Amino acid sequence: MHTSYSALNTFRTCPLKYKFQAVDKIKPPLKPQQIFGSLIHATLKFIHSPGPRGFPEVEKALDYFSKNWKMENFPAEESQNYFREGIEIIQKYYQALGEEERQQTIALEHRFVIPIQKHTLGGFIDRIDHTATGFEIIDYKTDRKVPPQEKIDQDLQLSIYLKAFIHQWPSLFNRVKNTDKINLSLYYLRHGLKLSTTRAPSDLGRVESNILADIEKLSEAHAQNQFDPKINPLCDWCDYQKTCPMFSHKYKAPSSQPKEKEIQRIGQRFIQLKKEKREIEKEITEIGAQLSEYLEQEKLGQFFTEEGSILRQLRETYKYDSVEVARIFEKWKKDPYSVMKVDLTALNRFTKRLSPEQRRELASLRQPDKRSFFLTVKNK
Ligand code: SF4
Repeated sequence: MHTSYSALNTFRTCPLKYKFQAVDKIKPPLKPQQIFGSLIHATLKFIHSPGPRGFPEVEKALDYFSKNWKMENFPAEESQNYFREGIEIIQKYYQALGEEERQQTIALEHRFVIPIQKHTLGGFIDRIDHTATGFEIIDYKTDRKVPPQEKIDQDLQLSIYLKAFIHQWPSLFNRVKNTDKINLSLYYLRHGLKLSTTRAPSDLGRVESNILADIEKLSEAHAQNQFDPKINPLCDWCDYQKTCPMFSHKYKAPSSQPKEKEIQRIGQRFIQLKKEKREIEKEITEIGAQLSEYLEQEKLGQFFTEEGSILRQLRETYKYDSVEVARIFEKWKKDPYSVMKVDLTALNRFTKRLSPEQRRELASLRQPDKRSFFLTVKNK
């Protein structure tokens, strides 16, 4: 099958959202930040495209941005801010732009398609530069938040871009021969900050198998026509809430039907009870600890009240030496695999299959592990 990184990413985040977008082709209106991002990307492409008189100066770029700015795309109260931010981004960009930098650009908004075994994966790379030390693949970001460097080092999209570069320009890659000569950068334009990373050849193999696994899951979902909703942190910004079964009820008009009213009432009651249960459990833990401390100090095993009594009992857990357990298992010719770690629940189940003598022998291997006390209530 053919897919793109962004479609795959959407599928991973929520299969149902993917279905709305890629299968049902429901296109929600573009959000202000998307329109803003597209215009900034277009302006950066303009900045890096030479005209008959060379590369555009900052005034020309600002002019390009202003002429393509459509006030009506933005809510009235945000329009001025977005416009000002756009101007600042362009000015900041020019301040950081090196004299030689624009001469180095070899591709802008480059469309790629790479094979992933029998599948293909497509996408766009914002910019590729031929630098003094190798190459640089740059993706522009208009996000307000800058992620930590560790995230950039793990970023899947950048790894895919590197694979695309090697696939589409093998002769260029042969010039540098090593992936560490190819810088992968995310340029956070609002902050004028470029975060760069590289990949080892071994990373690329791992990336390919991860993508392949995801594409196989996507292909399976298509075959089964099964795209389940998956609640995730981005749900609050999802355009499909009204049609998604996880949120559609939120948009349902209140009903005056008795059955509907009753279900509303018990729904609210359910939530109240759950909250109360949490509070009660918290209080039980707190006062249980106080009681336990008191009984310990007074050396008491049981505490009497008018409601009934509270018993404080010892709970002991044990552990086994896995080598010793393996030795006696071997002696009994039972389950002759090596014992890596003793699973106490499994061992207890297994004990039932042993003779009394074997049980005693197994018990002799037991060593005390943890001791703790617990409280139970005896009603009157
Ligand atoms: S609201 Fe959340 S669960 Fe529903 S489609 Fe959107 S992302 Fe998926």
